[in-house]
Order: sequence, then structure tokens, then C-alpha cells
Amino acid sequence: MGGCVLVVEDERKIRDVLRHYLEHRGLSVLTTGSGAEAIDLLDRAHVDLVVLDLGLPDVPGEEVVHRAVRGLGIPVLMLTARAEVEDRIRGLRQGATDYVTKPFSPREVAARVVTILSRTCTALRSIPTFGGGRLTVDADRRLVSVDDEPVDLTVSEWRLLLALTTRPGRPLGRVELMDQIRPAHHDGSTRIVDTHIKNLRRKLDRPGATEPGQDRSVIETVTSVGYRFALPPDHH
Ligand code: CA
Repeated sequence: MGGCVLVVEDERKIRDVLRHYLEHRGLSVLTTGSGAEAIDLLDRAHVDLVVLDLGLPDVPGEEVVHRAVRGLGIPVLMLTARAEVEDRIRGLRQGATDYVTKPFSPREVAARVVTILSRTCTALRSIPTFGGGRLTVDADRRLVSVDDEPVDLTVSEWRLLLALTTRPGRPLGRVELMDQIRPAHHDGSTRIVDTHIKNLRRKLDRPGATEPGQDRSVIETVTSVGYRFALPPDHH
């Protein structure tokens, strides 16, 4: 996965637990208990995000925020004690992205780190998934999987699925879908769309999903319009 997080925290126990949770999410982790060393590391190492305890013994936390955000454009997630309201406000003024108040759940900190990185770090941009991870559509690599099993699609099926999943919940007309397969070269007949949708359903649905009376296909028929992608998108 990649992505490097610098954890700046003078309490060793917190440092270690954060390292554990962040490494578990596939990130590489640097740690230090000193603000001065953090500023030095920011200049020397490739860091994608800083998790920063504002209450450091040597340097005011906001100086580290300033160096990371203003100097290098690196996002900062601050860890602050409840009493450090003023420090937190100063940190946010320096451009810190977010903060978590102590005591915190390390799992929550790791989740926030991944969220910030998925917005800021293109290498970590998340791949769209639907229906609670049931279906994955990786447009860059042209890979589709259902329940973690890869699915082979023809070019036309892939184009239709991409059109449907980039507008989840929205009904798309047969002509609009036809344009995805053969732009400007069709004779008005859209029967081929129905054939491809039938094949897509066979490949993507759980067995028995389209039994009579219970249309629970991932692709729903919208009467007299066309089709709609039925799985809700997951929020990463
Ligand atoms: Ca501290």
C-alpha cells in the first residue's frame, strides 16, 4: 500500500500503540518523542502525514504544524488533551487538518489517518466498492471482483458496468447505455444492451438473486427507462 506516517508523541506507550495500528493498515511509520527531531525528519524523510501530540516537551506543537503544513504541504492530525483548547485552535490556524482529543481510540486515529491520506495522497486513493465491500470496481486497473473473487467481463460489459457504477442509484436509459458500447454507430436498436445486462447479472449477482418476484439483482430494471445500479457506494 505504501504511505509514510510520522508519529510525534513523547509518551512512549501511545507511540507504540499508534505504530501498531498504523502498520496494521499497511502504512510505514516513523516515530519520535521530540518536536525538534520531528522538524528535522520532515526535511530528511518522505512523510505523507504527521500525527502530532501538541503537548511536546521541547518545541511547541504549532511549530511542527507550521513546518509540515505551511513549509511542506504535509497534512497534520493533532492529538490534544482536553485542556489544550488554545493550542488546538492555534494548530488549526496553522492549517492542521484534524484533531483527536485524548484519551482516544487508536483504531479511530488509524481510520482518520487513512481517510486523510485517501484524499491527499494519490498513491493511496481508494478504489470504489459497493454494498459493504461486495463489489469492487477498480477503473484504473480494469478489475472487477465480487466477494473478493475476480470476475471476467467483456469490453462491452465493462463499459456498461462503469457507466452504471459511476452513477449509483440513478436510472440510465437504454440509448444512453448503448452510447457506452457503440458511440454514434448504432441503428436505434438497443436489444444488445439487454443481452449484456443479462450477462452482467449472471456474473455479478448471487445465485437466485433474480428469482421471480424478488428482483434483488445488483442491476435493477427501471420500467420503461432502462437500468439502475442498485448497490449503495461505500464511503471510504
Ligand atoms: Ca505529550
